[in-house]
Parts: sequence; structure tokens; C-alpha cells
Amino acid sequence: MSKGSGGLRKFYPADSLVSPRFTGPYTFARLPHSRDLEGVDTLFIGIPFDGGVVFRPGTRFGPAAVRQASLLLRLYNPYLKVKPFDILNVADFGDISVVPSSIESTYQKISETVGTVIDSGVTPLVCGGDHSISLPVLKEVSRRHGRLALIHIDAHLDMVDQHFSQKYTHGTVFRRAYEEGLIDPSRSVHVGIRGSLFSEDEISETESLGFDVITMDSIEKRGIETVCGEIRRKVGEGATYLSFDIDACDPAYAPGTGTPEVGGLTSREALKLLRGLASLEFVGFDLVEVSPPYDYGEITAVLAANLIYEFISLLALSKK
Ligand code: MN
Ligand code: MN
Repeated sequence: MSKGSGGLRKFYPADSLVSPRFTGPYTFARLPHSRDLEGVDTLFIGIPFDGGVVFRPGTRFGPAAVRQASLLLRLYNPYLKVKPFDILNVADFGDISVVPSSIESTYQKISETVGTVIDSGVTPLVCGGDHSISLPVLKEVSRRHGRLALIHIDAHLDMVDQHFSQKYTHGTVFRRAYEEGLIDPSRSVHVGIRGSLFSEDEISETESLGFDVITMDSIEKRGIETVCGEIRRKVGEGATYLSFDIDACDPAYAPGTGTPEVGGLTSREALKLLRGLASLEFVGFDLVEVSPPYDYGEITAVLAANLIYEFISLLALSKK
């Protein structure tokens, strides 16, 4: 039990004025670890799986690094003017026991855990792992909420049909989600797209399916605020899922990732982008592709932890 603004609370960060931040066990934002969902609104779930990557691995160590980098998070978000943990009971589930050698078995494990979470009315806050883990999460969230609006922030579209004749990789995840009817392209948008492409019509093909594609160039030209307005209009009302691939941010701000692309968002722009999405109806989040072996001085993990704090703040605002 810790003391929140409204008195003693079971699900509340440890008081860092009483116990030092570097005293473990390490959980996200020093929240209680719990697998009992009674009274929980939002659950931080680590999915340490990197069997879906096509280039550099290492994201299996993502959740642990993000937890450690989250120890400095404080109670009040002055930008969104909210004390998220006073509104939401948030707990840290720990990690799902993935199967390192099998994406199918891992998907099964993710479905079981996230399915239980969803059926309990708890909002999942997932930390990968590579981007392939988003598919079973989306499937469970959409089972409860119907076809979802997707806000996908990433350097890459992740709309490839196959890699090495495989249907399930971190680069095919939203092609599958689209084919399986989990997301509604008329309410969905890919944001931050840049870098060299497989073909000249990769972006126009995605647009022809109904998605909006907001490239990094377009963000640079029009500014974050204009882009946020466009995203909010496209998504409109209804259940919305946000998937944030850390490689949306420039390698200068997020070097610890598997497929870096130069010319991306600064950490300030990424925070502003999320804060500009307040008022939407979020039903699930993921933050993926943090690969600690490629990180330096926790640059990437610290950014990821702060982005997840913004997710929680957005969710708290929508419940307020
Ligand atoms: Mn990416
Ligand atoms: Mn991705």
C-alpha cells in the first residue's frame, strides 16, 4: 500500500521520498507486481520475444531495460495536467513466458494472457519485444472492442506480405491485422514513415487500402500540432489502439533498436505527438523494438519508459 492523493492505495508507485528509487524489485514506475487482476484498471505486460525480427535481435531484453529506466518517473504529468496513478490502478504483470524458438507458440501464450486481461476489462499496456507481438494483442483487443482504429507510429509501414516465405514477422504485422479484419483502415494511420523502401509504390499501395500514411517529411513540413489534428480527425470516435515502434524516433534519440532509420522524430517531438492525441478512446497500447544490446547509456530505454508514461496519462485523461 502506498499513499496517493485519495488516501492509501493498493496499486500505486512506491514512495521515492521514503525508499530510494534504486531499491528493487524493479517494476514499471515502481508499481506493484501483480497477477491478480482484481481492482486493476491497466496492466503493464512485458513480452520479451525477438523471434520475429528480420535484422538485428535483442528486443527480448526490452522489458527489463524499460522497467529499469522507468524508476525516475514521478506522479504528476504537468503537460497533460494529470496524476495518472491517482485515476488508474496500474500494476506490473511481469513478463509473458514466451517460447524463444517458436512464434506460433509465443502467439498462443500472448493470446492466453492478454485474452484473460481483456476479459477482465483491464487495458493492456504492452512492452516488447519486436513488433510481431502486436498481432495477437490486437486480436484479443479487437475480440472485445470490435474493429479498431490503429495509430501506428513507426519508421516502417510493417505492411510487407512475407519475409523469407514467412507470414508472421515484425515487418508483416499490420498486413496480417488488416487481412484478419482487426483494424479499420478508414480510421487508421501510419505515422513517421521514412527511409528507403522496397518499391516505389509501397506507400501508395497502403493508402489504396484506406490507411493514411503520414511520412516524416510531411511531419517536418506541417509540424506536430497539424499532424495531431489530422490523426484525431481520421481516427474519430471509437475504440483506438496505439502501437509505437521506438524506431520512429531518430537513432540519435533511440539507437537501441534493430532496424534504425536516420531522419526521425526527436524525443521532444515524440512526446508532443502523443500528448496531442488526448481525447481519443484508447483501449490498448504497445511500445516495441527497444533492443538494449544496441543501446548506449540507456538513451532508448529512458525514452521508451517516458513514452509509456504518456500512454498511461492519456488513458487516465480518457477515464477522468
Ligand atoms: Mn520500425
Ligand atoms: Mn515496426
